[in-house]
Formats: sequence, C-alpha cells, structure tokens
Amino acid sequence: SLSIGIVGLPNVGKSTLFNALTKSAKALAANYPFATIEPNVGIVGVPDPRLEKLAEMFGSARIVPAKVEFVDIAGLVRGASVGQGRGNQFLAHIRETDAICQVIRVFNDPDVTHVDGDISPQRDIETINTELILADLQTIEKVLPRLRKEATHLKERKAVLEAVEAAAKLLDGGTTLYAGAKSAGIDLADLREFHLLTAKPFLYVFNASMDQLSDEELKARLSELVAPAEAVFLDAKLEAELVELPEEDAAELLRSVGQEESGLAQLARVGFHTLGLQTFLTAGPKEARAWTIRKGATAPEAAGVIHSDFQRGFIKAEIVSYDDLIEAGSMAAARAAGKVRMEGKDYVMQDGDVVEFRFNV
Ligand code: GDP
Repeated sequence: SLSIGIVGLPNVGKSTLFNALTKSAKALAANYPFATIEPNVGIVGVPDPRLEKLAEMFGSARIVPAKVEFVDIAGLVRGASVGQGRGNQFLAHIRETDAICQVIRVFNDPDVTHVDGDISPQRDIETINTELILADLQTIEKVLPRLRKEATHLKERKAVLEAVEAAAKLLDGGTTLYAGAKSAGIDLADLREFHLLTAKPFLYVFNASMDQLSDEELKARLSELVAPAEAVFLDAKLEAELVELPEEDAAELLRSVGQEESGLAQLARVGFHTLGLQTFLTAGPKEARAWTIRKGATAPEAAGVIHSDFQRGFIKAEIVSYDDLIEAGSMAAARAAGKVRMEGKDYVMQDGDVVEFRFNV
C-alpha cells in the first residue's frame, strides 16, 4: 500500500506526532486482523461520516474506515544529501515512500532548543527542500552521461533527456519538481524511472501551540508559503494526549480548545488526498467499510482490492451512489427507483459508489 514519509529537522515534534500515529495504529489494528503493523509505521483512519449512515441503514456490526500509512524517516539534517548524520540511509528510506510530509516547527518553547537557534518555519522549509533538491541533482548527475548516449540513437530517450535537463535547471534555481514542474513544462511521467525525491507530492504539518492554532493570519501566511502543497496545523503534544483518551473524552477536550476535529484526522484526510486516492464503499450486516483505490480505477480493479479472486472472477458490479442510496432510504427503495446500476469491467469507479460485486469463484 502507499505510504507517506514523515521528515523534519530535529526537535520539531516528529517523535511526538509519530507516537500519536502509532497509538492510533494500535487502536485501528482491531479492524485489520491480518495486517502486521511495523514499528516505524503509523496508521490513521480517514474520517468518513458516510460510514456511520451506512452502518445505520445496514445494521452493520462495525465500521472500517480507509487508512493512511505514515513512515517515520529519521535522519534529516543539514548536509544529509552529502552523507551528514545518517544521510545515506535517510535518502534510501525516503525514496521508497509515495509522498513526503514535512513537519515544521512553529511553536516557541525556550526549553526545546532549535538546531538553528531560533524559530523560522520558512528557513526550515528551505533547509529541508535544499537537502532534497541536492539529492535529486546528484541522482541526475549520475544518470546524465548514460542518458545523453542513449538519446543520440533512441528517439524516445530524447524526450526523457530533455525532461531531465529541464528538471536540473529548475532544481538548480532552488525549486522542487513538485512545485515547479508544471509551469516549467516538465512531464513528471518522463522522470518517473529516476525516483526523484522532489517529484513526490508534498504535504506540510505545522506543529504549533494552541494560541497559534487560532491565529488565522499566521496560518494563511504559512499555507501560502507551501502552496500548492496542502498544510495541516496541529499541536503534536495535544494530539499525543488525544489518542490516549476514550473517544468521548477526546471529543470533549477538542471542543474545549475550539477544534472540531483532531489534527491526526485532518492529516489523514489531507494525506489521502495528496496520495491521489479515493474510496468506494461496501455495507452489510458485518461491516460498513471504505476501500482505497487510485483515482481512475476500474470496477474489476476495485474488486481486487477486496480479494484477488473477486478481480479474477469479476462478472459485474451492482452500484448505487451514496447520495442516491441515502435519498432512497434503503437498497430496496433505491432499486425500485432505478438508481442501482449494473456496471461492467470497463466502468471507472466514482468516489462514493456503494458497491456489491458479482463474481465467479
Ligand atoms: P523530534 O526531534 O522532531 O522528534 O522532536 P520531539 O517529538 O522529540 O520533540 C522535541 C521536544 O519538543 C520534546 O520535549 C517535546 O515534548 C517537545 N514538543 C513537541 N511538540 C511540541 C509542541 O507542540 N509544543 C511544545 N511546547 N513542545 C513540543
């Protein structure tokens, strides 16, 4: 499954956030009896109010949300790209993730020193981006000689060479590929084989104190700094407390500090979106569940997420959109109203499809 690597400078609250994520993983593990959860992996459920409605309608015994996996990538320091600290290990681990989540410190605390002396989100973002950019430039430097040779006699390699050269220019100017490829006319698909770090989607967690969390001007400024990447604002210490509490107490604590939703829940939602994922829904007496697929997945591919036999033996999918189902009030009523469709193997799944698959075994 897809995962998001968490990176950040020392003392910004990564471990605090990650502890909250691993505790949340333990709580969710009950829903995924066959999943083994690695110690460096944190998992959060993606909040989805539709599941509660479905569980009510179908009398489902439990709710299983879609989930997002976060991997703790230690070792990002200034100079990581030239092997400082455990820089090489850092780069190898981050290469394996599908998106990069930067944790940026906003909170002030005289008891927690900052590696660069004072608190500056902008400088920290630049420090991290510089390391990732330098790593990408090294990768490019290594592949260029071979690529130049190939491009002299292979037409399809010429487009790749041009993309790589344009990427090098962009990176040299201090811009990540994620932020700048589009406007520079670079097709990221041409660069896929090189696993460049800054071509991965980025998201940002700003670790802030409670009073900073209600400072809309500050948040707007920070969001702007990282656009088009999405930003989540949270207090890692508060999140670590919230995961220790029973659900109702956690909700109460959140309300008392003027928040509607936990930072982890927001992070799950934004992470899911950043990875380019979407869900389809199933419901029955056993469970109401959100399943994860890539945008553009077909009905048999979606069936395969539930079980590979479902994909192999796929016949058709009985589909009703969540909104139509809720409006009708029950599956039978939705059928009677002609809202339940039979879709074949070429059907492209839509977000919010409630599905039952028909298959041969
Ligand atoms: P890491 O080095 O990035 O993993 O940072 P840690 O999670 O170990 O946090 C470093 C220190 O900052 C610890 O003493 C944490 O308790 C503290 N810390 C983490 N998050 C916050 C926060 O939101 N506010 C405050 N005041 N302290 C925090």
